[in-house]
Amino acid sequence: MIVLDGVPVASRLREEARIAAATFSPAPSLRVLIVGDDPASEAYVASKTGAAREAGIRAETVRLPSGAPSGDLLDAVRKANRDPTVDAVLVQLPLEAGHDDFGVLDALDPRKDVDGLHPENVGLLQQGRPRFVPCTPAGILALLDHYRVPLEGRRAVVLGRSGLVGKPLAALLTARDATVTLCHSRTRELAAVCREADILVAAIGRPGFVTAEFVRQGAIVVDVGINRIESLEAAPESLRRSERIQNAIAKRGRALVGDVDSDDVSRVAGGLSPVPGGVGPLTVAALLANTVRATRLRGEGEERRAR
Ligand code: NAP
Repeated sequence: MIVLDGVPVASRLREEARIAAATFSPAPSLRVLIVGDDPASEAYVASKTGAAREAGIRAETVRLPSGAPSGDLLDAVRKANRDPTVDAVLVQLPLEAGHDDFGVLDALDPRKDVDGLHPENVGLLQQGRPRFVPCTPAGILALLDHYRVPLEGRRAVVLGRSGLVGKPLAALLTARDATVTLCHSRTRELAAVCREADILVAAIGRPGFVTAEFVRQGAIVVDVGINRIESLEAAPESLRRSERIQNAIAKRGRALVGDVDSDDVSRVAGGLSPVPGGVGPLTVAALLANTVRATRLRGEGEERRAR
């Protein structure tokens, strides 16, 4: 079985972004907006802004306190939209309860929306002429392409229909001539549907949910899930036997696990992406590429001339 290691692919993409970023003066700039102090969101933001800085992108984080009113977040979005020194804007999701996610995404300047979640960008992607491909699906495609996984005419099953991952990925795989089935919590005979896949992508947020029963012999499996487990008791039965998970919890008091039971699935899959180290690093790398793209688009529209 091939391990679809995302780290070397992400390094190459990050280097490409660094080279592209260096061609701009002033350097591209990214503003990340985050509400509250959820540790997982804090960690994601730190890794995105850290990677951006390493690539020569100016990155700043605007923090709003937990419980901040929606109006404050909308004001921060509009301020970033208007700011000529900001090329790219990202609102860290999920937002705390009480915020209207769609209202916030609607307020973003679509030409700075590097997550590709503004309705105009979602529409362009669906039409097959993307401006910004959402970062995780873009990373998954980069991973599949790097490992030369053929897509044309192949059966792809995407497990999870979120606007962030499953839906845009289904559109991208369709555009690449795969035959795509998009599954969700109401799909009947889920394991049997998944077993038809040449390429199976799991993005549901359920630790170790996908077992060998879901996977056809030789299929390529991409594990998008990032689930934090803080005790062995909190892990599903099958994952408790994993030495990696046992060691991580013993050492650090937590383990990151995907949506795939990797020990079980690696008995049948032809390829599997690890968690951590699979799709995660590619999501960050894709954000850098989108930030450079936003900067280039603004340059073409001459909006950067004002600096
Ligand atoms: P989400 O918005 O919570 O969506 C979950 C999707 O999974 C929904 O469509 C849901 O179906 C489906 N689902 C949930 N339980 C299911 C089940 N038992 N059987 C079948 N389908 C089920 O999640 P998301 O934002 O897409 O994230 C999914 C996972 O990917 C999470 O673990 C997240 O942390 C991870 N993630 C990783 C990256 C990365 O960079 N690697 C980036 C983003 C997200 P319904 O629509 O029917 O409710």
